[in-house]
Amino acid sequence: MPTSSEITTCAYCGVGCSFKAEMQGEEVIRMVPYKDGKANRGHSCVKGRFAWTYATHRDRILNPMVREKISDPWREVSWDEAISHIANEFRRIQDKYGRSSIGGITSSRCTNEETFLVQKLVRQVMGNNNVDTCARVCHSPTGYGLKSTFGTSAGTQDFDSVEHTDTVLIIGANPTDGHPVFASRLKKRLRQGARLIVIDPRRTDIVRSPHIQADYHLPLRPGTNVAVITAMAHVIVTEGLFNEQFIRERCDWSEFEDYAEFVSEKRHSPEEVEKLSGVPADLIRNAARLYARGGNSAIYYGLGVTEHSQGSTTVIAIANIAMLTGNIGRPGVGVNPLRGQNNVQGSCDMGSFPHEFPGYRHISDDATRSVYESLWGVTLDEEPGLRIPNMLDAAVDGSFKGLYVQGEDILQSDPNTQHVAAGLEAMECVVVHDLFLNETANYAHVFLPGSTFLEKDGTFTNSERRINRVRKVMAPKNGYADWEITQLMARAMGFDWNYTHPTEIMDEIAATTPSFAGVNYDLLEREGSVQWPCNEKAPLGTPVMHIGGFVRGKGKLIRTEYVATDEKTGPRFPLLLTTGRILSQYNVGAQTRRTENVHWHEEDRLEIHPHDAEDRGIRDGDWVRIKSRAGETTLRALITDRVATGVVYTTFHHPDTQANVVTTDYSDWATNCPEYKVTAVQVGPSNGP
Ligand code: SF4
Repeated sequence: MPTSSEITTCAYCGVGCSFKAEMQGEEVIRMVPYKDGKANRGHSCVKGRFAWTYATHRDRILNPMVREKISDPWREVSWDEAISHIANEFRRIQDKYGRSSIGGITSSRCTNEETFLVQKLVRQVMGNNNVDTCARVCHSPTGYGLKSTFGTSAGTQDFDSVEHTDTVLIIGANPTDGHPVFASRLKKRLRQGARLIVIDPRRTDIVRSPHIQADYHLPLRPGTNVAVITAMAHVIVTEGLFNEQFIRERCDWSEFEDYAEFVSEKRHSPEEVEKLSGVPADLIRNAARLYARGGNSAIYYGLGVTEHSQGSTTVIAIANIAMLTGNIGRPGVGVNPLRGQNNVQGSCDMGSFPHEFPGYRHISDDATRSVYESLWGVTLDEEPGLRIPNMLDAAVDGSFKGLYVQGEDILQSDPNTQHVAAGLEAMECVVVHDLFLNETANYAHVFLPGSTFLEKDGTFTNSERRINRVRKVMAPKNGYADWEITQLMARAMGFDWNYTHPTEIMDEIAATTPSFAGVNYDLLEREGSVQWPCNEKAPLGTPVMHIGGFVRGKGKLIRTEYVATDEKTGPRFPLLLTTGRILSQYNVGAQTRRTENVHWHEEDRLEIHPHDAEDRGIRDGDWVRIKSRAGETTLRALITDRVATGVVYTTFHHPDTQANVVTTDYSDWATNCPEYKVTAVQVGPSNGP
């Protein structure tokens, strides 16, 4: 029997389910989905319910470790020694190579308060803007695209909104596996009769599942999102399906005329786009007509939109069709990025980008800078800092020498593993702050043990901008919560922050960030959770955004020119590899592989169409070699017609899979988000790894 319990928030995906952590003394014995959790209402999936035991796994590192060279063995040291070593090394590097020679990476797994402190460490203590986040490699194009069109980087709806939706358009997302609890709500609405369009190279579960059959599945060639969505806009404009009243009131009519002229060109017609996307023109036409005329139409999208060389353009194209049809600014409609990690929304909100303060305000904005300068007592750099790929490039070139990485395994997660390794190897002080000795730690000089979500207080912000409390249910096994460790580093480098609890950090966030101005822990205790913006205008938060007007004033329709990726297929690399996730596992598996969930998915496989398999003499279960221009790896084959001919697919939850050994350096033109979803490969039989 439990002796106590506490309500907290799942640390896996962007749904942000609330759980009651049941304790027996100091030990968590059960995670029970919380019936009053506003994001999940008593539901959960197999990750949140069962996959929390990594918190007590024997692989956890509980003492700090230091080594002079990465070839040396690790040496356990005291916290004092580790922290003063980091401070001395970072200051030595800055004295020798300049203020901008070091930086930090925040984590979408950590709390808002911890993320706020890492960007504060970089801006105030290190004195530059070299801070970036793992959102760089997932939803940074959402930030660019939605800010450009609507004025802010946020999903427009709450999850409840789906109950008012008549037509659901899912693009590049697999909610059944990626966002299971929200997928259940979505499927309930579909079973009640809502119509469904899915744009995805793969026939995902939701296309055809019990009692659900998508009206239209557009199995496009990977890399052609912009062409297909712009072709839908072509149909909407040329067939007069746009909402003139909405556009006149909420957008700029002359911009609409320019945009309409652009999308009406013949090259954007479904017939032309069929040639490059492989999607039959009729399907594009019918999908566009249904989206435009299907009552309340809502768009949900995922990394199949963002992780492309045109990720930002695709987000803009999506926002365009929502504005064209007036599907924004009321329940049941909208544009909704399904965020991957538990706090990817929050890590972006908290100023983790090298060009933005918390709340998406540009660092060149004098008024915003002066708010932080007077509070923090320093003059802040007004030049944008380096993004993660630029940090690695600069390291290889010799100008970037020190890095603090909190809760992120960049060697395993980022594209072109060989280049990441070269960048890390060229640095003089790499500090990895994590639960386990991850792959990046192979290149680290200092390892700081991290704390799990069960060991700290704070908040996570989910995909619907909902700020949920994370509550400490057991003492940190390593001695400190992550926010305390960052604070120790700041103190050792000359800045005494003196926070005694994360509630004080949230007070500083609220005092300096207009969209969080009304947020405090008392309010979260009272309400359970709130959705930002939460301020004087919306004291209890904002479930649906852009009602009556966009954050930027008028919504902006922007031309979306399709540009083919530089990653080309050809005789040597004839197939396109794309990637995704499965329900029981999470990302590179650092947590789920250390729980019982590992038994539900013991290996990643390469899905290949029967015709492509037959051409290559591959049978189901055979080992196959996957080779790209960047590298090669080995997997076992799974023959299925879920993928079209010419396309292969894998998950990447096991380190042996090494999917990023084959992914390339190509990235989104606006944000450098890697093009994980398109890699030209050859596949052939293999004798195994
Ligand atoms: Fe909920 Fe996502 Fe956690 Fe599953 S992984 S319990 S859907 S927050």
